[in-house]
Amino acid sequence: MNIGIFAHVDAGKTSITENLLHRSGSSRIRGYVDAGTSHSDSMDIERKRGISVKSACLGMSWKDVHINLIDTPGHTDFSPEAERGLRVTDAAILVISAIEGVQAHTFSIWEALKKRHIPCLFFINKIDRAGASYEECLHQLQNELGAMIFTLQTAVNEEQADADSISLWANYPEQAHPLIERSIENLAEINDVIMECFLEDKIPDKEELLKTLAQECKKGKIAPVLCGSAKNGNGTQALLDAMISYLPVADESNELPVSAYVFRTEFSKNDGILAHIRLFSGTLKTRDSIRCPRKNTEIRISRLMKDSGGKTIDIEEVNCGDTAIIVGSTGLSTGDELGEIKNIPEASSINISVMTTAVKAKNEADYYALSQALTELNTQESSLNFDWRREEKELHISILGKIQTEIIESLLHDKYGIAVEFEEPQIVYKESPVNIAEADVRYTMPKPCWAVMRFRIEPTEEGSGITYESKVSFDKIHRKYQNEIQETIPKALKQGIRGWQVCDAHITLIDGEDHEVHSRPGDFILATHMGIMQALKNAETKLLEPLQAFEIKADELFLGQISGDLNQMRAQIEPPQFEGNRFTLKGLIPTSESLDYSIKFQSITKGKGSLRLRFGKYAECPEGSGKDRAYRGVNPLDRSQWILHHRGAFKADERQT
Ligand code: GDP
Repeated sequence: MNIGIFAHVDAGKTSITENLLHRSGSSRIRGYVDAGTSHSDSMDIERKRGISVKSACLGMSWKDVHINLIDTPGHTDFSPEAERGLRVTDAAILVISAIEGVQAHTFSIWEALKKRHIPCLFFINKIDRAGASYEECLHQLQNELGAMIFTLQTAVNEEQADADSISLWANYPEQAHPLIERSIENLAEINDVIMECFLEDKIPDKEELLKTLAQECKKGKIAPVLCGSAKNGNGTQALLDAMISYLPVADESNELPVSAYVFRTEFSKNDGILAHIRLFSGTLKTRDSIRCPRKNTEIRISRLMKDSGGKTIDIEEVNCGDTAIIVGSTGLSTGDELGEIKNIPEASSINISVMTTAVKAKNEADYYALSQALTELNTQESSLNFDWRREEKELHISILGKIQTEIIESLLHDKYGIAVEFEEPQIVYKESPVNIAEADVRYTMPKPCWAVMRFRIEPTEEGSGITYESKVSFDKIHRKYQNEIQETIPKALKQGIRGWQVCDAHITLIDGEDHEVHSRPGDFILATHMGIMQALKNAETKLLEPLQAFEIKADELFLGQISGDLNQMRAQIEPPQFEGNRFTLKGLIPTSESLDYSIKFQSITKGKGSLRLRFGKYAECPEGSGKDRAYRGVNPLDRSQWILHHRGAFKADERQT
């Protein structure tokens, strides 16, 4: 099983992970004790230092089920990394603090889980702390998050040091409880058999209920809820049992060609780059090679490792569905897709960078050190999109919000000793085609070269991304060149004719030919850029701007003023909802307008209101509100320069290898 663990910072994810590892590993330690060698002490030290829980992925076994627990960072502003965690998990544990309840981060994760139909279970932690309310959390899960839940446990002695979680169902059906009724109602809503029972006033059998819960949970339709106190190690065993009972196991398709996704990279002094991968198909062995389409190279696998109960061990092979670490293969970055990439499920985005900012070292002498530090950070967190504009001596990164600049600032200060400042963030726009258009590209001079193609570009629905198809047979353009074309399309769309990433388009290769003698590897890459750019020019494009989804809660008194502000900021507002004398307002607001609103909002509501902002979507930008950006680097429309530049770069690559 590949299970991601998600939580808001401080909710207790680290403690829970440690508990799971300890509890599931205990049987093995007992084995050692039987053999006369007690390892419990060293385990204790390991626990104290928390070494084990730092790993990106921990392997453990529970009742003969092998579980990879995949860690994800908790900070909202580093969500792209959480998103990569999601890509490699088949199921999730969402940890919520019984004191803080559902938070903005919970919403983002929950939405991403739902979008991908990833089954999940909730663990409400810290029931021992003052201010904890399990009931309130259940209410929020159901009513605020809109989750279909099934409560497995109830909390006793809440808010006290000896708080405990006990099964709700131990004495079912003798003992009634409102939470039991609600859980059965929820299950009935999604399952006909239970619904029939319910309508006929029959009491469903416990086995039947839990079996149905397992079926529906594995489909992602309902989520079991457990509670406990990680500090007291309470609720851990029930959590392990629930994981193997209600969450799905990984698909296995070992027969297919190998494909893998790099979800995390780290540096190790002794071993170099450690690339954490999940296999989606096939088998990977040491001494195999696997293709890295991003770099257009083969990566040789000299060594593989895997975590086993908090320690890494060498392995000879990794099978489909499992995770492993590729050791020392330079050139791999977080987010890389390897091998037969069509077997890897597509990415969904939780949060994306909608702004860029320039970073400057306060002390000019640190410029080079800063560029090195950012290069290193970018390998670990590629969503920073670090862009080193050497000619202008400028360093640019992508960010999600102003808070992220603070995190990066302190990271650079603490880890690298560099003091930095940021320029005012710039909005990142996108562009999408307006009309259907076609374009020809003939790259046949100066010889040797040959790549002839005709592309069509069509606008597609908002949010549909980029799709590509080829209508040209392999007889006309060889399979290897068609691969080159397919892999180049996303790169060619990184900058459109207005300088921004192109989205919402369908691209078709409608005609073309290679040449048995003259076509060389790389010709179709070069020509695809030219053809796509020409097609975009023919189609014309419109600008899209990022919108934030907002949710505001405040006293009725402020409704007038807040609605007025929102209207001025070009917001789209849904009708307000009232509860007591407070209102809730939801809608979408352009990111460019909302940058400084939270400060103003706090002062209007005197700190008593809540404003939650997260990325909503990209939508068409009214004429005049957005900005075009100059093309960066050599523009493929500048044909002769482009060919010269590309051939030069190609030669440089050849020299390197
Ligand atoms: P993370 O940031 O989500 O990884 O949370 P940690 O596991 O590091 O926990 C954050 C803090 O909360 C630590 O000081 C823990 O000791 C404490 N903590 C975690 N779980 C519990 C719990 O169940 N009860 C109480 N009282 N404290 C807890």
